[in-house]
Amino acid sequence: MYPFESAGGHGIYLPQLKLSLDNSHREAEWVFISHAHADHLPRDRHSRVIATPFTHQFMRLRGFKGECSELPFRERLSLSKCDVTLFPAGHILGSAMILIESDAGRLLYTGDTKTPPSPVTEGFDLPEEVDELIIEATFGLPIYKWQPIEEIQAAMQKFALQSLQDGYTPLFLGYNLGKAQEILHLLAPLGVDMQIHGAGFPYCEVYQQAGFDLGNVRAYNRATCEGSILVAPSSALGSGFASHVSRIRTAFCSGWALTEARRMQMNLDAAFVLSDHLDFFELLDVCKTLAPKRIHITHTPNPTVVQHFLEKAGHQVSSLEFSPRSEDADG
Ligand SMILES: [Zn+2]
Repeated sequence: MYPFESAGGHGIYLPQLKLSLDNSHREAEWVFISHAHADHLPRDRHSRVIATPFTHQFMRLRGFKGECSELPFRERLSLSKCDVTLFPAGHILGSAMILIESDAGRLLYTGDTKTPPSPVTEGFDLPEEVDELIIEATFGLPIYKWQPIEEIQAAMQKFALQSLQDGYTPLFLGYNLGKAQEILHLLAPLGVDMQIHGAGFPYCEVYQQAGFDLGNVRAYNRATCEGSILVAPSSALGSGFASHVSRIRTAFCSGWALTEARRMQMNLDAAFVLSDHLDFFELLDVCKTLAPKRIHITHTPNPTVVQHFLEKAGHQVSSLEFSPRSEDADG
């Protein structure tokens, strides 16, 4: 078993290996970054970062200037005290789980993960067998059960077409990296012009280079946006995004859509439960498939519930004391 400590923000530190996971511990020699969402990015430049090539590319777009060892999926890298291998996590493009192998056993850390994978990722793939598992449980309550993506896609397309037909501009709210590209991909078959918030557009080019169809997308242009499908993070509403368009219909796209939309006091015409994370039942399935000797859960709104269900299924479980994340970062 690995001794580890939770260390700042969402990160974990493995002192014996001097390896940080999604955090920059001051004593770390190596830092693994599971994906390029803001809450996971390295904050200092002293340690060597390990990330997939796409995660590195996104990190650079977000201003990261430090050293990075790019590690493609399923290639083994030897560090001083362990070997590591990355597996696709299905959360956003480039997102990875890390398998750490040493005398202390085989530990898998998932970062943010989703199965079935988001359609604009490299997929989801587990290693054969692990002793210990650190898994995120952002949506670790039985109320979170996602619909099949095809049903969500059909409802989103219907909303977009109906809005346009009625003379309204449809606006889909989702964060700029990952969710926005997923929305564009799901709406691409409509063949309608689409505009994305300016900060999200450079990420689209990376997705397109990776071979994902994002339809007829351009960067947001205030003068021409009316009548196109618009995609922007919910934070853009406060800064005047499309505020001049009087006939607009707004849809929120997130795993938090049903439980949080009202609390956020947004004026919504629709909410689509489109998440980039495991739902509660998928979480139980992954644990069952891997059958590790010990499971540690992170980022959960209510550790006792998910712990109870996992223990009932015969697992040894502990909860790492992280604050559950808000809908602003990720969903
Ligand atoms: Zn994330």
